[in-house]
Amino acid sequence: PQQQGVAEEAAPLMPGVKSIVAVSSGKGGVGKSTTSVNLALALAAKGLQVGLLDADIYGPSIPRMLGITGQPVSYDGKVLEPMENHGIKCMSIGFLVEEDTAMIWRGPMVMGALEQLMRDVNWGELDVLVVDMPPGTGDVQLTMAQKVPLTGSVIVSTPQDIALLDTRKGLNMFRKVEIPVFGIVENMSYFSCPHCGERTDIFSHGGARATAEAQGADFLGEIPLDIKIRETSDGGHPIVTSDPDSTHAKAYAEIADKV
Ligand code: ADP
Repeated sequence: PQQQGVAEEAAPLMPGVKSIVAVSSGKGGVGKSTTSVNLALALAAKGLQVGLLDADIYGPSIPRMLGITGQPVSYDGKVLEPMENHGIKCMSIGFLVEEDTAMIWRGPMVMGALEQLMRDVNWGELDVLVVDMPPGTGDVQLTMAQKVPLTGSVIVSTPQDIALLDTRKGLNMFRKVEIPVFGIVENMSYFSCPHCGERTDIFSHGGARATAEAQGADFLGEIPLDIKIRETSDGGHPIVTSDPDSTHAKAYAEIADKV
């Protein structure tokens, strides 16, 4: 293992990958994966070569959201070919592990699998690799933030106080390991009733912007709670590709401009 560590420093994990952007959240269920997928597609829509690495050991959902089925193949028995759909390359930790065993993994085990997904996958030339991180700020997340050569991170939060508490922890974690934070996205920012048009701030509103300001971080934008966002990603056709002229797609494009 010691020798491996030396080799790791000498050779970059993914020589053809120009930048790596982590999408993280202080807690689960706030829309981190939804944001990762739509952000990756918005970056691809700008003409960039994009990959999406699903590193969420607790609930790898990216292949489903991208409409990818089946298993990755290897032509030489060593290097895996990434899966591809909607013009982006994708690899998921879900292809390597059973979901219920991954729950009990510790940092070093996760790093072993992650390293495989970076080093032993034919990513080719990429302008940006988006990494959907596992939620939270524990040992596993800290190890990842330290060991993956991240260019910067995007933090996703709902407007609620409790989510924001975890968001501050996430911000501090990245600062501690000296990874730049591109900023905070407020997801489920408000709800517009499709029937009457009235807006309701289900999880409150504006908390992420206020937290960003208080913590000296950038605010990247707000994404409303909208059934179309859920239906399109559940159906494997995320809103950025299925409805590129929608206000939601434009909001993701604005976030993509800032990373
Ligand atoms: P996380 O990765 O943080 O656990 P997901 O991205 O998997 O969260 O989202 C959790 C659920 O909420 C999914 O069913 C997803 O489709 C839905 N969801 C996420 N963001 C939105 C949104 N802005 N509007 C509607 N549904 C959303």
